[in-house]
Amino acid sequence: MSQSGTSAPRAGSVKQITSHSNPLVKEIKGLIAQRKHRTQSGLFVAEGLKLATDAMGAGWTVRYLVLGPEAKDNPVAQKAAATAKARGAMILEVNTAILSAMTRKDNPQMVVGVYEQQTVPLSSVTAAGATVWIALDRVRDPGNLGTIIRTADAAGASGVILVGDCTDPFAVETVRATMGSLFHVPLVKCSQEAFLAFARNWPGTVVGTHLEGSVDYRAATYPEPVLLTMGNEQHGLGPDIAAACRTLIRIPQAGQADSLNLAVATGIALYEIRRPHLEL
Ligand code: SAM
Repeated sequence: MSQSGTSAPRAGSVKQITSHSNPLVKEIKGLIAQRKHRTQSGLFVAEGLKLATDAMGAGWTVRYLVLGPEAKDNPVAQKAAATAKARGAMILEVNTAILSAMTRKDNPQMVVGVYEQQTVPLSSVTAAGATVWIALDRVRDPGNLGTIIRTADAAGASGVILVGDCTDPFAVETVRATMGSLFHVPLVKCSQEAFLAFARNWPGTVVGTHLEGSVDYRAATYPEPVLLTMGNEQHGLGPDIAAACRTLIRIPQAGQADSLNLAVATGIALYEIRRPHLEL
């Protein structure tokens, strides 16, 4: 996976922070609040001990691990801090007021991590060994994206491709919604143009989900590897991407809803495609 980020700060140290105006407090606040800061630094924030354990277990680079007072008596948090420090991270010990202000939460998690972003270049995505990659056309909602990444992980998809102007996968709401799956699912970002060229050369089936699709998703066949494309929440699948699909499938609906939520539709289609590979 490619990595990006600013040059590392003094590594492997422990620092106590007691002032709200400490530059590191401001930096972490900026990473939480603004995409611009995340893009410029190549860093992002994930809240919680579980995510810290997931991230380090999956080999992601942790820059800072912020520990609130409760972490002192928590053996799992202490172990995470020792691992992070051994890998060169800076451990920041803060009080609850600073943790609250940093995360803008009344009841903050006792551990907050700052990690280096990781994405995979489109050129390195191969069909070899894959059953299904998911492509999201201009996904805008952080909760939808996080839920899709989590579902991709659960269903065993090979990864998620973000096509065009998508919401930031490293926004704190997205990361939270992935419940740690962000650290296990390869992510690609690309333009629509690059994606169309990629889809043209895809050796398997390119499937689109579309409200005007004529094929019931349960009746379609899915020769592997599958490239499953999902449309934007407001506008659906763009016409050029729809035209690149071999099949446009539809999920039947009975009630008055215009459409299904994007993440729900992704889950339904994905589980159908992965059906032969999944068992209890
Ligand atoms: N107004 C949009 C439209 O006209 O397509 C609705 C988009 S829907 C909220 C977001 C995406 O979820 C769709 O582009 C499609 O990929 C998928 N989707 C939602 N409901 C679907 C259904 N019943 N059948 C197939 N795909 C569906």
